[in-house]
Amino acid sequence: MTSLDDLPIRDDLRGQKPYGAPQRQVRVALNVNENTHGVPEDVAQDIVRHIAEAALTIHRYPDREFTPLRESLAAYLGHGMTPENMWAANGSNEVTQHVLQAFGGPGRRLLGFPPTYSMHSILAAATGTEWVEGRRDEGYEISPETVVAEIERTKPDIVFLCAPNNPTGTGVPMATIEAAYDATEGVVFVDEAYAEFMPTGSPSALTLLPGRPRLMVSRTMSKAFAFAGARVGYLAADPAVIDALRLVRLPYHLSAFTQAAAVAALAHSAEMLAMVEDIKGQRDRLVAELPSLGYSPWPSETNFVLFGGVDDPHATWEYLLERDVLVRDLGIPNTLRVSAGTEAETTAFLQALSGAAADLRREN
Ligand SMILES: *Cc1c(COP(=O)(O)O)cnc(C)c1O
Repeated sequence: MTSLDDLPIRDDLRGQKPYGAPQRQVRVALNVNENTHGVPEDVAQDIVRHIAEAALTIHRYPDREFTPLRESLAAYLGHGMTPENMWAANGSNEVTQHVLQAFGGPGRRLLGFPPTYSMHSILAAATGTEWVEGRRDEGYEISPETVVAEIERTKPDIVFLCAPNNPTGTGVPMATIEAAYDATEGVVFVDEAYAEFMPTGSPSALTLLPGRPRLMVSRTMSKAFAFAGARVGYLAADPAVIDALRLVRLPYHLSAFTQAAAVAALAHSAEMLAMVEDIKGQRDRLVAELPSLGYSPWPSETNFVLFGGVDDPHATWEYLLERDVLVRDLGIPNTLRVSAGTEAETTAFLQALSGAAADLRREN
């Protein structure tokens, strides 16, 4: 049997691990922070109508500039965004890869702040960008002073701030992003995958874009927008940044079907986002109820909760899986992460976990 190591693979990829959130068919899937509420039937029908129309011209390459989609995304974001400020790709993971292809690469250094989204370091490795780790403050926070100190210590070409952060749920103050921008001559990339779940009225890094051409804000339709399976992520930045990303994207990277589906879904933003307040309510319920089961949740500005006090995360993960509940073990000692689901899913999780608390602790 040939193994990876037998192949003449790039030396810097040897020993790397692929992204690997386990995918299992379960009744209660709360492991990858999807919107668990599904797409309303009428919106799904409208999406299908748009895809059917696109099928009639599918013998041609799609609009390489995906102009209608960029218009829809700019209108959705507001904040004075124009189509010239917008980029999109097959998931914000591909957007991030484009950013690293254009601004990272061999000889360039990326500063990230673990624990954070695992794809950031995986994409750094895939693009030959050196990944260096910044230290967070107490409670996973990053103050303006800390971000400046870590930039001065590591001298990065790119700074990644996940705001709010996955997997901890921690928000990032605007002052931290501004301080990072002022402390580096490189680019600052803010991953706002969970922006729609932030407390009502919280500012987005979009408000910082005017006058900051080295700042980029990425978003996704995978989480609040209930569109994970369609693979659509996007980015807002100065039009010059968008020109840089055009240099590295594959021609026609967004299929005509993807473009049609995304434009149709964005025309129904209010319906697609209708469950966000409900999900925030279930998240707050997790934070409120976990302590009574003996666990210690971190505050969350996202649709998931990281909680500590788990004696044996792997055993607890398996205990829950046996009860058809899938959560995420990220290898952070004594913690697990759970996404907020529907009320029934969240209840099922809390019930299964209270069983784990009793059964597994009795064994210990
Ligand atoms: C889930 C997630 C994404 C989304 O990636 P897509 O490729 O758009 O599905 C991006 N960033 C963070 C921090 C995430 O947690």
